[in-house]
Amino acid sequence: ELVLGIETSCDDTAVALVSRDGQVVASAVASQTEIHNRYGGVYPEVASRAHVDKILPTVRMVLEDSGVRPQDLRAIGVTRGPGLIGSLMVGLDTATGLGQGWGVPVVGVNHLRGHLRSADLEEKRVDYPALILLVSGGHTLLARMSSPGEIKLIGTTKDDSVGEAYDKVARMLGLGYPGGPVIDRMAKTGTPSIPFPRPMLHDGLDFSFSGLKSAVSRYLAANPQTPHEDVAASFVAACLEVLLAKCRTALTDSPAQSLVIVGGVAASPQLRAEAAALCEDLGVELCLPPLKWSTDNGAMIGLATWDYLAAGFTAPLRPQTSLTIEQY
Ligand code: ATP
Ligand code: FE
Repeated sequence: ELVLGIETSCDDTAVALVSRDGQVVASAVASQTEIHNRYGGVYPEVASRAHVDKILPTVRMVLEDSGVRPQDLRAIGVTRGPGLIGSLMVGLDTATGLGQGWGVPVVGVNHLRGHLRSADLEEKRVDYPALILLVSGGHTLLARMSSPGEIKLIGTTKDDSVGEAYDKVARMLGLGYPGGPVIDRMAKTGTPSIPFPRPMLHDGLDFSFSGLKSAVSRYLAANPQTPHEDVAASFVAACLEVLLAKCRTALTDSPAQSLVIVGGVAASPQLRAEAAALCEDLGVELCLPPLKWSTDNGAMIGLATWDYLAAGFTAPLRPQTSLTIEQY
């Protein structure tokens, strides 16, 4: 039995077929990176139009790849939020129409719960209770998870997400969009010699990244000669120190079996390496999604859909631009 997962909350049109235990039978992502790269960010109206063009061909490709008859699907799971309203509407409307045509139930899924479950794709990795660090383009948060359905938010950013800070710093350095991968690559060859601020380092489990972003901007204006590699390395060092210090505090406050790091920034090799060292130190298991499931994809939405089916979670099939991780 398979679920068709559909994800259109931002700038990727992503579709996948997933079994109950997280096996990905087929997956396709039509990325809009090239389109948005020209503007240095995502233009919502442009994103919605691209989803309209891509969604049916992407669904068809996944079904043809797998030879699955749509009438045999257990359900269609589709992101209902959080995200861009126009982008969400394209996914929800398409899923609703397909579900009616095929006679298959449609489940509206919280995108953040999709990211959470990405760590169990292809292979079951997460042991409960787990501490979750979600670091994506729009969110930076810590949560405790005692089972796939039971989630408690314990810290979140007061302003920008860490992914947003990566993207803004990349723009300042003229590196294009998305910024994470390029900043990471550049940081590897630099020296983290600039003492950028570590916002809220010793201040509970909440985060703040807008001050760090402004500090980088001021530094670049005052020191235009500094090698960009050193700026990137120093920026990454500041981000990682804050992220890992908060994980350490949370894991010490209330022990967990595993630390689960998900969201686009979880693709960062530096973050992966430092998290591995922290977990080694604390005797906690580190659970990371395979790289391709760190950024937005349909498979994570498909796996989350199985949780909704198992627990009977239901939500309206209307776009919800802001949702917390505790909601369905
Ligand atoms: P949200 O899930 O909060 O709605 P989103 O879906 O746009 O936001 P994701 O796709 O999870 O976000 O992640 C995108 C973010 O991940 C971008 O900010 C991007 O710069 C960052 N990112 C991607 N790859 C890397 C990397 N290798 N290192 C650091 N950051 C990365
Ligand atoms: Fe996302």
